[in-house]
Amino acid sequence: MRIDIVSLFPDFVAQVAGHGVVGRAGERGLLALQGWNPRDHAEGNYRRVDDRPFGGGPGMVMLVDPLRTTLAAVRAADPRPAHVVYMSPQGRPFDQAKARELAALPRLVLLCGRYEGVDERLLAAEVDEELSIGDYVLSGGELAAAVVVDAVARLLPGALNDAESAAQDSFEPSVDGGDGPLLLDCPHYTRPVEHALGTVPPVLLSGNHALIARWRRQQSLLRTWQRRPDLIDPATLAKADRRLLEE
Ligand code: SAM
Repeated sequence: MRIDIVSLFPDFVAQVAGHGVVGRAGERGLLALQGWNPRDHAEGNYRRVDDRPFGGGPGMVMLVDPLRTTLAAVRAADPRPAHVVYMSPQGRPFDQAKARELAALPRLVLLCGRYEGVDERLLAAEVDEELSIGDYVLSGGELAAAVVVDAVARLLPGALNDAESAAQDSFEPSVDGGDGPLLLDCPHYTRPVEHALGTVPPVLLSGNHALIARWRRQQSLLRTWQRRPDLIDPATLAKADRRLLEE
């Protein structure tokens, strides 16, 4: 997969997101990450990329033309169709399902705004969708783009050493064959078994895979019910899940 980042700070995203799994995805040839700076495509001595907003008010707005020329260069760099996403607090909330959807694309372009944002005409003409990473306002789209790059890259086949681990993560419908509720992950433990802070639940040491799977499912259900009741509707749970939750 190829991801292009259009930003006034194009290296920032690779620096923030380019470690660990994402870095490995790059080394394994699964992900090509490239940054593009609209300033390189701006005209004039000052290479201006922003201007004052019509109608007055504070702040600056990113100009249409430097971004348009940059996006044309990005599109021309690879013949595959580019899905262009504008990182925006006004976008649809980014979630795990969207990360999976994006990870299936051959190309993704993430447009990062700064200042008050981007001239609306550029967004209407060039952007396929807007995504938000939460109901708060960042000073630029770079951190949001880094979040998307990380969440998407770890889903690329071969990026994680154990593909199972992504399938068992929180919010993964695949845990339930794709049909059930989105659940939070179960708790995890590692060595030592006995510690001053507590003992590992005995079922995890039993070697009984069916019992372990049952315990994990129950923990996931309980956690989700306690921490994110908005994700679970007991009335629509499968019978087996409802029993586990009520036990
Ligand atoms: N005036 C804009 C508004 O209130 O909707 C906010 C502009 S913000 C200061 C500058 C840039 O940061 C935005 O253009 C966007 O690219 C990015 N940004 C800020 N918050 C974000 C969020 N929650 N999710 C994704 N991108 C965000």
